[in-house]
Amino acid sequence: MNHLKEAKRIVFKVGTSTLTHATGKTNLRRLDSIVRVLSDLSNAGLDIALVTSGAIGVGVGKLGLSEKPKDMPSRQAAACVGQSELMFIYDKFFSEYGKVIGQLLMTKSDVDNAERRMNLVNAFAQMFRYGVIPVINENDSVAVEEIAYGDNDNLSAIVAKLIHADALVILTDTDGLFTGNPQTDDLARLIPMVDEITPEIQALAGESGTKQGTGGMVTKLHAAKTATEAGIDTVIMNGNTPEDIYKLVDGRSIGTFFKSQKKGETV
Ligand code: GLU
Repeated sequence: MNHLKEAKRIVFKVGTSTLTHATGKTNLRRLDSIVRVLSDLSNAGLDIALVTSGAIGVGVGKLGLSEKPKDMPSRQAAACVGQSELMFIYDKFFSEYGKVIGQLLMTKSDVDNAERRMNLVNAFAQMFRYGVIPVINENDSVAVEEIAYGDNDNLSAIVAKLIHADALVILTDTDGLFTGNPQTDDLARLIPMVDEITPEIQALAGESGTKQGTGGMVTKLHAAKTATEAGIDTVIMNGNTPEDIYKLVDGRSIGTFFKSQKKGETV
């Protein structure tokens, strides 16, 4: 089984827990490693898109707030501040490796509306033609609850479908899907390969989640299900070791691989 060896277009998703230290401040070293590897894959001829969280998290840090605000206007304001800071950092790092990035902010309503969805698809297609790496987030400054995906795991699967990606790679703070909770259960083992996301597999997700992110394993499995059902191979792997991405695209088994169910379906 060669996993992602044949993949030509890959969506990577990075969560807030991968991008920030426990202090809530940006983890520059990690971010730099991720950007470097993705730039290299782009140099090798792959189409790369990056779905990134962190707008609200980075905004909270920059505004000096002690925690993520609960009310919507404060979260929106934090996202306004954080998103531009986030893109400033990405642009700086990607530029160092000679790469041009393009910011794409979207909401659920952009995808649900046929005309706006087509505009998104066209923008992605043109960016790939220009050799640009699209960097995507939910448009958190306007995406109030009714029009939001709410978590970027789900968003990354939608993006993967929109651009007909061959693979979706979700970087997180654990090695993948385990048979139990690895933090509390010594016998918990990593599951290297999932043929089909059954209710039994979904039950393994538990309720995990970290202070910074919104997702946990539940939304990651949901995203994996959406993507694999649309013919997109999906991997959940540890974002603390970005160099492992090289092994992954070389066809090695890293994290948990979710086998795609069929090829060719659109959103
Ligand atoms: N879009 C949110 C942000 O950038 C993150 C959503 C998530 O954690 O999945 O802050």
